[in-house]
Amino acid sequence: MKVALAIHGGAWNVPDDELQDHQAGIARVLQHGWQLLAEKASALDAVTAVVRMLEDDPLFNAGTGSHLNRLGKVELDASIMEGDDLQAGAVAAVERIRNPVQLARAVLERSDHVLLVGKGARRFAREHGLPECRARDLLVGRARETYMRIRAGETDLIATEFAPSNDDPAAAGPEHMGTVGAVARDASGCIVAATSTGGTLDKYPGRVGDSPLIGSGTYADSQLGGASCTGWGEGIIRVVMAKSTIDRIAAGAGLDAAANAALQDLSRVGGRGGMILIDHRGQPAAAFNTPRMARGLACLEEGMRVGVDSSMETIS
Ligand code: ASP
Repeated sequence: MKVALAIHGGAWNVPDDELQDHQAGIARVLQHGWQLLAEKASALDAVTAVVRMLEDDPLFNAGTGSHLNRLGKVELDASIMEGDDLQAGAVAAVERIRNPVQLARAVLERSDHVLLVGKGARRFAREHGLPECRARDLLVGRARETYMRIRAGETDLIATEFAPSNDDPAAAGPEHMGTVGAVARDASGCIVAATSTGGTLDKYPGRVGDSPLIGSGTYADSQLGGASCTGWGEGIIRVVMAKSTIDRIAAGAGLDAAANAALQDLSRVGGRGGMILIDHRGQPAAAFNTPRMARGLACLEEGMRVGVDSSMETIS
């Protein structure tokens, strides 16, 4: 069976001067995940490990480095789905958890539920030995600065989160974004997908995006494929982006055609975003309609490739 890995660090308007950092961050995590799969790690373990690494990298808007909500708090969303048995776990609007993907996995493995939110999710974390961190451990200076700028009236930072208002990729964009996600297919053919995020800029307290919603931000079926989405969650939810893409693959569409059709659906509701996917044969792909998306793809035929704008570079 062909192993494959796809990861992303968010689809948005990545500024020129951060392109190298995002590409390097993605490359490091892709190399580690690809090594794990080569050493016969399960897709569940590989995806959990790479999403944890991305959550721990303060460059990305997930785990450490997440955006602040309108009240200045970090509220996190994450999900993970295993495609052999269609098992899933997710958490939403959860505070003080350093690695929400690990908590989502605990929900998958150790509860009768799929989605736990807020205080209940924290209680479940405590009961299952996942330590709480301090709120400030998740906070990085740039997230605080962005919060202060929005409070001071720079609301165009919110409007330009996924693309500059004049659609010019060179125009000034927002401060750091970058939901993270991964899809892997292991040597047994099992496909697993996961997504983790701090959500959108200036979100209302309690707001939940697509990332923890199975079918919208994340989906995996080992017989068909797996997907992790990123972008404007309010749009992604309405077009059920991950599952609708997998349904198109099931109906015979190629990976690129399926992903591009999903992005057209997203455009219908005025949304921008992107996705990574792997089909049941182990072919990875990525697509986005934002100016940029940090992404890495690895498969046996093509090796490891990373990119942030339209081109991709092969790495070893
Ligand atoms: N999809 C995420 C959300 O709406 C944000 C992102 O992907 O940047 O919460």
